[in-house]
Amino acid sequence: MDPLRERSVTGDVLDSVAAAAHGYLSGVDERPVSLPGAAEVLAELHRPLPEEGVGAAESVAELLRVTDLAATTSSGPRFFHFVVGGSTPAAMAGDWVASLTDQVGGLWTSSPLATTLETVALGWLKDLFGLPESWGGVLTPSATFANLTGLAAARRWWAGRHGRDVLADGLAGLPAMPVFASGYVHPSVRKALQILGIGRDSVTVCARDDAGRIDLERLDRELAAAGGPAVVVACAGEVNTGDFDPIDAMADVCERHGAWLHVDGAFGLFAALSPRTAPLLAGVTRANSVAADGHKWLNVPYESGFVFVRDPEVLAETFGGWGVPYLASMDDQQIDYNQLGPESSRRARALPIWATLRAYGRDGHRAMVERHLDVAAHLGKVVEAAPDLELLAPVGLCIVFFRYRPDGVPEEELDELNAAVGRALLADGRVYAGTTVHRGMTAFRPAIVNWRTTETDVELLAEVIRELGVRFVQDGR
Ligand SMILES: *Cc1c(COP(=O)(O)O)cnc(C)c1O
Repeated sequence: MDPLRERSVTGDVLDSVAAAAHGYLSGVDERPVSLPGAAEVLAELHRPLPEEGVGAAESVAELLRVTDLAATTSSGPRFFHFVVGGSTPAAMAGDWVASLTDQVGGLWTSSPLATTLETVALGWLKDLFGLPESWGGVLTPSATFANLTGLAAARRWWAGRHGRDVLADGLAGLPAMPVFASGYVHPSVRKALQILGIGRDSVTVCARDDAGRIDLERLDRELAAAGGPAVVVACAGEVNTGDFDPIDAMADVCERHGAWLHVDGAFGLFAALSPRTAPLLAGVTRANSVAADGHKWLNVPYESGFVFVRDPEVLAETFGGWGVPYLASMDDQQIDYNQLGPESSRRARALPIWATLRAYGRDGHRAMVERHLDVAAHLGKVVEAAPDLELLAPVGLCIVFFRYRPDGVPEEELDELNAAVGRALLADGRVYAGTTVHRGMTAFRPAIVNWRTTETDVELLAEVIRELGVRFVQDGR
């Protein structure tokens, strides 16, 4: 069916989605996170490309039906796996507007609106995080892309120090780029280094214990031994425990050796929103580049990330096309954001960010972050009070690292027991949290970053883990 024949039905089809949204949203707090029977629904989707289409009304009705039966409730209050934010009402609606108008956010000419909102949103985000107004920035699809963007700028700088233009000539003939980090370094940093041709195994990990905490003296020695330009990656918010690298101390070391400091603050940068946790980020303004996510703790829909750079010129220098007559700076009104990051055509991802910041302001986002700090601390207390749960790290932010540990189970069986309870938890679906292996232990690490989540939801998490755990222990006897 030629879509031209459907011109008049678009509004009705969107109405059907809006009507479904009412039902979905009114039940999302209670909806199971994973649904029994979803696998069968998914299996039925594997069908050949239709020769003749069914039209928008039927197609979208079917999509809504399978969504209702098979969508993971990752936007609900009980999804604690990984670090997954929800979507605030304003952000979700803002995202719909981005789709409605299909703005192309790469060039000023294609959408002065998207460009202006991106400039405004980046300015508001810098203000929110306490980063200087003079810094540059760009929106990215994710923190992985934000790390890629910051590290691409670092790579250009590093090659320049060797007298080479890596953008024009590539890496051939250059030595290996030295990269240093603590054991907190996130896999996405390695992925970025892999894409950049630096190599994912190029990171020298300077850790002083099995948790991965930074060994500053070793970092100092390694940078001295490297003898030339080098890149240091600090982690603001480690995924297993929420712990932070000491950014200020790492900045001291970087300053001594003239190294580029990149901070990965995917969710941890939001610690800046509360005076209770802002000290964790001390020194962040001394970094050269800082990456963070919107789809985690800002609670805007996927995909959303951002990177900020101290020297506002470096993004255009790194990503501006050749032969472009001028390089955009943050002072320009008519910025082509596709010259500041790895993408060319891009979604107008400023719209949901702008909408949520306009709707809730600094106060509202601080309130959300502080509620999550409280809810995480509450879960920590619930864990400590339960005789069969063991808290494995202090709760400093939004992640609670703990395991199931009933009396009488020998230490060497705890990993398998927790892995089994973890698998059962995902299948059970009432709440969702995965296990990790950290410090040699298999354990849970739920992250509390969804605006809908309250104390009741995390109490249910602890309850279900204990309920499922008892079954394994009884079965094992
Ligand atoms: C989640 C995360 C990333 C990657 O973010 P994506 O949005 O999944 O690309 C990077 N670093 C840290 C510390 C993270 O928690």
